[in-house]
Amino acid sequence: ARPLVLILGDQLSHELASLKQAPAESLIAFCEVEEEGRYVPHHPHKIAMMLAAMRHHAQELRDCGWQVHESRLDDPDNRQSLILEAERLAALHQCDGILVTRPGEWRLLEAFLARREEGEIPWVVLEDHRFFTTPAQFATWADGRKQLRMEYFYREQRRDTDLLMEGSEPAGGKFNHDHDNREPIPADFQSPPPPQHDHRQDALTREVLTLVDTRFGEGAEGELRHFGNLDNFNWAVTRAQALDDLAHFLAHCLADFGRHQDAIDDSDPFLFHSRLSAALNIGLLSPHEVCAAVDDAWRRGEVPVNSAEGFIRQILGWREYVRGIYWTRMPGYKQENRLSATRGLPEVFWRGDSGMRCVDQAILSTRDHAYAHHIRRLMVTGNFALLCGVKPEALCDWYLAVYVDACEWVELPNTLGMVLHADGGLMGSKPYCASGKYIDRMSNHCDRCQYSPKKVTGTHACPFNSLYWHFIERHRESLSRNPRMSLVYGSWRRMKDDKREALLQQAEAFLARLDSAADYGSGAHR
Ligand code: FAD
Ligand code: SF4
Repeated sequence: ARPLVLILGDQLSHELASLKQAPAESLIAFCEVEEEGRYVPHHPHKIAMMLAAMRHHAQELRDCGWQVHESRLDDPDNRQSLILEAERLAALHQCDGILVTRPGEWRLLEAFLARREEGEIPWVVLEDHRFFTTPAQFATWADGRKQLRMEYFYREQRRDTDLLMEGSEPAGGKFNHDHDNREPIPADFQSPPPPQHDHRQDALTREVLTLVDTRFGEGAEGELRHFGNLDNFNWAVTRAQALDDLAHFLAHCLADFGRHQDAIDDSDPFLFHSRLSAALNIGLLSPHEVCAAVDDAWRRGEVPVNSAEGFIRQILGWREYVRGIYWTRMPGYKQENRLSATRGLPEVFWRGDSGMRCVDQAILSTRDHAYAHHIRRLMVTGNFALLCGVKPEALCDWYLAVYVDACEWVELPNTLGMVLHADGGLMGSKPYCASGKYIDRMSNHCDRCQYSPKKVTGTHACPFNSLYWHFIERHRESLSRNPRMSLVYGSWRRMKDDKREALLQQAEAFLARLDSAADYGSGAHR
């Protein structure tokens, strides 16, 4: 048997199931296709990172003795669709089947499985074992539970893996140290600058950067708008570079990761975050090795338990949990819209010219780095979209397009579930909605903003304040029944009628301006 082993852009691991099962005479195929590069306007960083990493990985496999074919984006024969291109190559190279590992998107899995039934050449789809749990294991865990909560899933994962466990007890006496992880950043603060990968020295990466700049950069022809350019491109595109990023994180960031995990800085996009999500998602690093390294650092006494726990929870807990939700709830999950949001994506998400300092900095920094840390995604752009009532499909397309680490299995539950509370509470028992007070506490944006977080109505009032109460009033029917929202609804009820009315009017006026995008903001950023 000589299968064609199709390796996708987020499967760049030597441990991949299809690679481990492949007979020596297999043809390993990497297919760069337009169809995957354009279905949302992916940030040029994301396309370049993936293409450069694919080409390096192909080279590594060739060096290991595999026969490798690469269909390049600009090959004249390229069918520009994964399935058609894989089948063309299989026929051309006399392969008798196509072997692939579960992709990161339901859309692709469905297409592969349909091909298995209808295609002329047999397709075999294998389970992806690069995670702590498989979708089937998650389904077993979820089965019969009245309510799904990440925290309980995470505790079981900790026991099963022995990560941060002391015998049968969690390190530091509790499973969750979130309480110690809410410090804003001090005024005189400096975070360690990320290591610089010298991509211009590497011919293969240089070639990709030129290609992506021409095809997908700012001003490239085509109907879709690609956000940002390649100026700050500094993502790992090889396993060696990803290991450097991990080593840097362990040595310089992890110790402070915990206490400043939720902080936001006006000018520093990365703070003490690891910047490892893209390398994890495309397979350059495994979640097991990253968590083991953090566990080791804690056992050696190099980092406090709140940092190690805060970090491991993100990978062992949230990352696995969102993946389980995705695979067990799709395809219906993508259609969920339990808060009945209807607004299209406001133009400010592309322009960063709302005049709200926190929102604009989050958007412009996203444009410049294809990155924002979690709390910016959740509590700034996410919170803004939630309070404005942006519909899930519009917001999901934005999050999928603009971040270097964006893959649907992780983006969708975070955006639709965690940010928009559109899944009925699977990702959070209450919406993550907040007023300007929260952003003022966790960031240093407000001092530089034309608005005041302390004002609720009037020209200088922080828009988050009135939008927050507008949201609360809009969803009174469904959310006031949630016991975790009772304090908020108590305050809303006790507010004087004229104040309530003024808040609602202030928010309505803001939303009307937001919808007439042409009049909104200065537009100077683009
Ligand atoms: P760190 O803060 O250093 O965290 C360590 C790791 O934990 C990350 O690398 C990531 O692998 C994992 N992680 C942290 N939070 C989450 C989470 N909520 N869900 C899953 N994994 C998590 N992450 C993606 O990898 N791809 C996405 O497309 C994506 N979309 C998101 C959309 C929204 C609206 C929100 C709120 C979050 C999203 N996240 C996504 C999760 C998280 O924001 C990013 O993983 C994180 O910001 C990446 O930066 P980092 O590597 O520096 O993370
Ligand atoms: Fe953001 Fe409001 Fe603070 Fe301005 S005042 S930075 S809009 S929270």
